[in-house]
Amino acid sequence: MRVGRIRAPIRPKNGVGQVDKRMTNETWGEIREQLQKRLGKNNYVTWIEPLTLSALDEGIARFEVPTSFFGDWVSRNYGDHIRNHLNANGAIVERLEFAVNLSQPPAAIAPKPAPRARPAAKPRPRKEDLPGAPLDARFTFDSFVVGKPNELAHAAARRVAEGGPVTFNPLFLYGGVGLGKTHLMHAIAHELQERRPELRMLYLSAEQFMYRFVQALRDRSVMDFKEMFRSVDVLMVDDVQFIAGKDSTQEEFFHTFNALVDQNKQIVISADRAPGEIKDLEERIRSRLQCGLVVDLHPTDYELRLGILQHKAEFYREQYKGLVLAPGVLEFLAHRITTNVRVLEGALTRLFAFASLVGREITLDLTQDCLADILRASDRKATVEEIQRKVAEHYNIRLSDMIGPKRLRNIARPRQVAMYLSKQLTPRSLPEIGRRFGGRDHTTIMHGVRKIEELMATDSQLADDLQLLKRLLQG
Ligand code: ADP
Ligand code: MG
Repeated sequence: MRVGRIRAPIRPKNGVGQVDKRMTNETWGEIREQLQKRLGKNNYVTWIEPLTLSALDEGIARFEVPTSFFGDWVSRNYGDHIRNHLNANGAIVERLEFAVNLSQPPAAIAPKPAPRARPAAKPRPRKEDLPGAPLDARFTFDSFVVGKPNELAHAAARRVAEGGPVTFNPLFLYGGVGLGKTHLMHAIAHELQERRPELRMLYLSAEQFMYRFVQALRDRSVMDFKEMFRSVDVLMVDDVQFIAGKDSTQEEFFHTFNALVDQNKQIVISADRAPGEIKDLEERIRSRLQCGLVVDLHPTDYELRLGILQHKAEFYREQYKGLVLAPGVLEFLAHRITTNVRVLEGALTRLFAFASLVGREITLDLTQDCLADILRASDRKATVEEIQRKVAEHYNIRLSDMIGPKRLRNIARPRQVAMYLSKQLTPRSLPEIGRRFGGRDHTTIMHGVRKIEELMATDSQLADDLQLLKRLLQG
């Protein structure tokens, strides 16, 4: 589905049912605005904007959706919201129905022009010769614990893994370090190998993609390289942010990407941030990446962390038979280690190994002793210096300008952002922060903090920036 595609809000079909008289174009427009406030911009653009209200009668509101997956998802997650808002605005709706609009398939799943004929009549490279990275046997759907923060990413990955017709292309997964992007991609690969062994599937990191490409340039085998990549049925590229700023690799990636999309081949991409937030990425690539389904893995919440720990602990109980795990230990860890799943897993691995070495029960005391360093590290608050560095990097200004006297807007604003984040994320007082900003007065810091708070409410770009920076600093 194309995110951000705008259609006429209401398109009643002749004879198929009339849109309720009170439910005018304007009302649906208003409801959509209310939903945007309620669900947030991102959810709105992804899920509400592409909906077309096609009919409303006999208590049923009918919507056209780009794919059935889309309909299921909206129905399950936003159905109640939509119904409540319709009813609150004078409609009488008991039920929502979602139908795929077949007469006008969205661009992302529209039939593509026939693939260009290959100039060379060479045989396709053998499947065994595809330059994929090895898959981690542990990264399967069975071992992936699903919770609110990764629910959508998981559902979308499952859908791709079914190997059915391509419904969204690419699937773009993004999120902070250690939240399960690579795990999900490997899970897709395992599942596809199982279900559709005939498919030519290629999984590799963007770094490996670049390495192969450079090698091909050096060996003068770029044609073979192109041939190879264009011959796959499913292409998965991990950590695509890596190619940003690497011009010829980007260019080649773009052509590979287009060639595969043209042939309606499934592409799955991961990155540590949303396409729009990747710096030094060519605009045309960015917009292509946004054409499919863009899904983020949110930072873990307590329930998910506990679920993952329980799952892992189950596995270790098998491995270290006889070890006793005292109640409350997993809860303690889920509560205290909030950084990322990799750290959480590392902690548990060490804990079990240690307890089995010393032959003791895993109690809270033992946990605190054994994991003192990890626990301390995850308590760590960001420092003002770190914040200044990250913010300067993000806005592409010099670190010295953060502290210096320049008052130009394009420097003063980032500086205020850094002041705001310093107040929010560190335990420092305003005068302390002032000292770290080149000896500024505490009232200047307060003014900066207020300014950002004020702007945040109206400037969604700024709000997005802040969210990203917070994630980077706390990750
Ligand atoms: P990313 O690629 O997003 O940086 P990974 O996929 O490498 O993260 O995940 C880091 C570690 O955490 C892996 O060992 C992975 O198995 C584990 N992990 C992450 N999310 C989950 C989850 N929801 N359930 C089980 N394990 C998870
Ligand atoms: Mg990864």
